[in-house]
Amino acid sequence: MVVFVIFRSVMKHYIIPVFIPHLGCPHQCIFCNQNKITGRQTPVTAEQVAAIIEERLAAITQNRRIEVAFYGGSFTALPEDIQNELLTPATQALRSGRIHAIRLSTRPDCITGPIVDNLTKQEVNIVELGVQSLDDNVLGRSARGHNSQAVADAVRLLKMAGISCGLQLMPGLPGEDWLSLIGTVRQAILLKPDFVRIYPAVVITGTVLAELYSRGDYCPLSLAQAVARSAYMKLVFERQGIAVIRTGLQASEELDSGENVLAGPYHPAFGELVDSHIFYLMMTTFIEQAALHHTTCLFIRHHPQDCSKVRGQHNINLSRLKHRYSLLTVNLHADSAVTRSSLVLEYQGSRYILNKNMIKSI
Ligand code: SF4
Repeated sequence: MVVFVIFRSVMKHYIIPVFIPHLGCPHQCIFCNQNKITGRQTPVTAEQVAAIIEERLAAITQNRRIEVAFYGGSFTALPEDIQNELLTPATQALRSGRIHAIRLSTRPDCITGPIVDNLTKQEVNIVELGVQSLDDNVLGRSARGHNSQAVADAVRLLKMAGISCGLQLMPGLPGEDWLSLIGTVRQAILLKPDFVRIYPAVVITGTVLAELYSRGDYCPLSLAQAVARSAYMKLVFERQGIAVIRTGLQASEELDSGENVLAGPYHPAFGELVDSHIFYLMMTTFIEQAALHHTTCLFIRHHPQDCSKVRGQHNINLSRLKHRYSLLTVNLHADSAVTRSSLVLEYQGSRYILNKNMIKSI
C-alpha cells in the first residue's frame, strides 16, 4: 500500500487596515471613543482607500493571503451608496485577484437582509460583529442600543449568505461578573461563529465610562483579572473549535502614549500575557495532579518560540511556581522537537507531555 503524505503550507495573512472612525455609527456606547482608539479624526474617502490599498500592495514582497479590512465605526450603518463607494477599490482589487478577501466590522443591529444582500454583491467575505457581551443587562448598562437577540439574528443572516462571521467580545463592562461572562461564552458558542476577538474594557478618555470611573461608579478589571478572564475565554472557545484571532486591543501610538487610557487593563503585549497565563495553568495543573509540592527540581522543555511565554514577563511564571509549590528549581530548556503551545516536563526519570486540554479549572 502506498501512503501519500500531503503537506499543506498555511499562507500567512497580511491585513491592509482602513480605519473609519465612528463614521456611520448612530450610537455612543459608554466605552467608545473611536477617534482615540484608531487614531483617526477625519472620515476616509474612496480615493484614500484606493491609495492605501495601492501603497500597501506595492510593499508586499512575499506570498501572503491579503485582506482589506475596514475597522472602527459601524460600516453597515453608513448609507448604502457610501458603503459601496468605500468598498469599490477593495472589490476591484478582489476581482482582479490582487487581494483575497474583504473584511469589515459593524454593529449587530446594522445587519439586515438587504444589507447582507449588498455586502454579498460587493463580495465582502468576512464581517466582525461588535458584540461585547450577550448579557442584556450588561448591554443595557453599556448603552449598546441592542440586545443579545440582535446578535443571534445578525449571525444567522450572515451565515445564511455564506459570509464568515466573527464576534468581538469585551469582558469587564459594568454589570459583568464571572457568571455573566460564562453565560456570554456559552451563548456565543451556540451561535457557532467562525472566530472571536477578545478585548477587555479599558477606560478611554472622553467616554461615558471615564466619567463613571472618575465618579467612582465603575471599577475596571485589573490586568491580572483581565488576563485570567481572557485566558478562560480563549481556552473554552478553542476547545469548541472556535478560533480566537486576538486577545487585547491592537497596540497603537494613541494607546501607548498613556494620555488616552485613563484606567483599565491595557497592555501592549496583552495577548502574550494571556498565552503566558495559559502556560502557567498547564504547569500548575500537572503539579497539582502529580502532587509535586515537595519536588526539588523540575525540568521543562518548550518550543524555542514559546520561551518568553513559558517564563512569563520578568520570569513571573517561574517565581509564582516556586513560591506556590515550594519548588527549589525549575529548569527550562528550548527544544525545537517540542510542539508549539505544548510542554514536555521531566520528573524523576519520567516524561510527561502537557497541553492546553489538560487544564481543568481556570
Ligand atoms: S457601536 Fe461601535 S463605533 Fe458605535 S459607539 Fe458603539 S463601539 Fe463605538
